[in-house]
Amino acid sequence: MTAGVTIWRCVNCRTGFFPERLLCARCHGDKFETDTVAEATVEEVSVIHHMIGQENWQPRRIASVRTSDGQRITVGLRDASGPGATVELFQEEQAPFGRAKP
Ligand SMILES: [Zn+2]
Repeated sequence: MTAGVTIWRCVNCRTGFFPERLLCARCHGDKFETDTVAEATVEEVSVIHHMIGQENWQPRRIASVRTSDGQRITVGLRDASGPGATVELFQEEQAPFGRAKP
């Protein structure tokens, strides 16, 4: 597990993106450096009850969150955090997750 989620920040104008982009949407720069964002606010939660082709599937909660840096990203939720909750972000095997801040 890695704390925070990797984002890509335009070297020129400092705008952060997730996922990675080829060109900056703001200044059309093409140089990025990675950065980490550790906190987000939950905007919307949905539950995946079934997955085709998957047996023994446990319902999973996913959330659309707005990071403290402004990106909107989709993360897996590891607890009962709902809309408006502040969550800490982490990554497991490249996938972004969130859970309530301790
Ligand atoms: Zn830029």
